[in-house]
Formats: sequence, C-alpha cells, structure tokens
Amino acid sequence: MDDVVTVDCPSCGEPTAVGVSLGEEAERASRRISIEADCDVCCRPLRVLVTIRRGSVVQAEVASGW
Ligand SMILES: [Zn+2]
Repeated sequence: MDDVVTVDCPSCGEPTAVGVSLGEEAERASRRISIEADCDVCCRPLRVLVTIRRGSVVQAEVASGW
C-alpha cells in the first residue's frame, strides 16, 4: 500500500516524484513522516514531510534546512 507524491525540488525547482510507504497504522490515525529521497531531475537529496491520514497522503511539503 504505497503512494507517490510530487513535490518541487528545493535544489533545481523541478517537480519530482517521491515514493511513500504507507504503514498499516496509518489507517487509524493521522501521522507525519519524513522521507529522504533523491531528486529525479538533479539527483540531489531532498527531504519531504508527508502527512498521512486514513491510509492516504493528505499533505506533502519539502522540508527546509538540512
Ligand atoms: Zn532537483
């Protein structure tokens, strides 16, 4: 039960897809997780804060400040 979110890369400004692993407990409560990924465009690392509620991604934003 995975999902994919698209965010704007903080390094190159291009949209990039980030895979999200949705845990089973996400179906019961909302939670916020931090995901580290590499940009599809410039390959630089980025960190995304994802809010999951009832097994679905409801919000995704790029975390600032490494
Ligand atoms: Zn990039």
